[in-house]
Amino acid sequence: MSPVRTPPRVLTILGATGTIGVNTLDVVARHPGRFEVFALTGATQVERMVEQCRVHRPRIAVMSEPAAAAALHQRLLAEKLPVEVRSGADALTEVATAPEIDTVMAAIVGAAGLPATLAAAHAGKRILLANKETLVVSGQLFMDAIAASGAELLPIDSEHNAIFQSLPRDFRGDLQQAGVNALWLTASGGPFRTLSAEAIASATPAQAIAHPNWVMGKKISVDSASLMNKGLEVIEARWLFNAQPGQIRVLVHPQSIVHSMVEYIDGSVLAQLGTPDMRTPIAYALGFPERIAAGVSALELMGRQLSFEAPDTARFPCLQLAFDALAAGGNAAAVLNAANEVAVERFLAGAVPFSQIAASIAHALEALAGGAATTLDDLLEADRQARRVTTTYLETVRA
Ligand code: NAD
Ligand code: MG
Repeated sequence: MSPVRTPPRVLTILGATGTIGVNTLDVVARHPGRFEVFALTGATQVERMVEQCRVHRPRIAVMSEPAAAAALHQRLLAEKLPVEVRSGADALTEVATAPEIDTVMAAIVGAAGLPATLAAAHAGKRILLANKETLVVSGQLFMDAIAASGAELLPIDSEHNAIFQSLPRDFRGDLQQAGVNALWLTASGGPFRTLSAEAIASATPAQAIAHPNWVMGKKISVDSASLMNKGLEVIEARWLFNAQPGQIRVLVHPQSIVHSMVEYIDGSVLAQLGTPDMRTPIAYALGFPERIAAGVSALELMGRQLSFEAPDTARFPCLQLAFDALAAGGNAAAVLNAANEVAVERFLAGAVPFSQIAASIAHALEALAGGAATTLDDLLEADRQARRVTTTYLETVRA
């Protein structure tokens, strides 16, 4: 058991009902007295939120959907649980910036998480960042907000958490000074790693969300299948570690044991390894700078084969599109992200084939990249336009 410190860290968990949220609460529950849950947020999953309120007794529960908030309110009254229920996007920002809290787990999926996560950055909170789309859309603005407020940013994405752990503890955004040559992001390759281009083009949603190594939300599972997840992570790494695009390399590693690596100028390569379980990076960030138990089974390397191969951007064009958007700069990453969100949603609904995900992103980038991207309004406008352009484009396509 880890020693109980006083006072406890006070948490808001954005996206508590999702995969990352559930894993976060699992780690929190292993350390009674160390953490206090101030607020939990969800969108539509009322029963899961009731259960989380029963176990974790937050002061506030937010459901972004008003109907779900009303249903939650009734359920909590019936159970006599003294939890205040709020709804709507403003409520997400309120609980992410409340003076009572010091730590925010940002685990909403997609650009929907941006306003509250950015607000937490402005408010100087410790941010545990799972919501990579926030950094993809608003990279420079977000990092500026962190620097200006003195907020603390700890990556939850397993690759970035591995890189964070493999960098010097006093790393402050200067890779050259740290003696770093390159950042190596590993990728499982997803469920379509060995499929032909034809088979990938006609893959079904059920095939796409059957990830070989990780249990994740549907959107990120499809992103893993298209390698867009790795593309988003390349952009995420650029901002988190102030890396030049040419310093970020991608290596397919199907076993997901080496979570990522840092290559130094003296030839050293430092990596973080572990059983693929998101509770490890979550516990690392929750306890930072101390290590705390995560409930993760020990890594058994005896008899294991680890392999590495190059990513194939011909079969997985989304990865190349992300590198292209990063090189283009400006609003391109926001456009890429929004087009991807719309296309993935349509694919999951069975409305368009898998191959249209990359096609519609390419289309949106062609139509919109190059626009202004200095203010948050510029980025939100790019996001809106890309959603419109992609929706219209996909209406012409049949599954
Ligand atoms: P998920 O779909 O399981 O959960 C998403 C959460 O966001 C839920 O709580 C949902 O209620 C909430 N949400 C969805 N839409 C919302 C909206 N419009 N407004 C407010 N809340 C909304 O997703 P996940 O797998 O937990 O992923 C969450 C984030 O973490 C994503 O950005 C993902 O890329 C990132 N991430 C996840 C993993 C993983 O292993 N699951 C790993 C690395 C990074
Ligand atoms: Mg990842």
